[in-house]
Amino acid sequence: MEDMVAMPQTKRIALVAHDHRKHDLLEWAKFNRDLLEKHTLYATGTTGRLIEETLGLPVIKLQSGPLGGDQQIGAKIAEGEIDFLIFFWDPLEPQPHDPDVKALLRIAVVWNIPIACNRASADFIISSPLMTGEYRRQIPDYNDYMRRAV
Ligand code: PGA
Repeated sequence: MEDMVAMPQTKRIALVAHDHRKHDLLEWAKFNRDLLEKHTLYATGTTGRLIEETLGLPVIKLQSGPLGGDQQIGAKIAEGEIDFLIFFWDPLEPQPHDPDVKALLRIAVVWNIPIACNRASADFIISSPLMTGEYRRQIPDYNDYMRRAV
């Protein structure tokens, strides 16, 4: 049986942008400042500092991505502490922490967390009526997997 988790009205949003995508994320965040203000923001270190400076909103800042920040966000997703991931990863540059990037995207899918990797998808998600209401998110049933014979 699949579990349902009620996502609160005030969402816990994680924001991450690779260096060449930071400008794009900041432009998007500036445009959506009034909507973002209603939620709790988490970010990797540099992204978080830039959002705080640009928007004047408080951000819970984790380590910089390549220093473990992506993994910290992934751990929060696994612990049910993040409701929505905005992750502007760079499709044109390899990253020193490519395994962490892949792991973060993977764990968000494992826990059925909405992910926006570009401005268009971020626009669609942030303007969804579900952002301001309560939403019951399905948690896939991993019980068989947990009880598997090895
Ligand atoms: P940063 O990390 O916000 O500290 O630059 C982002 C990333 O590369 O994952």
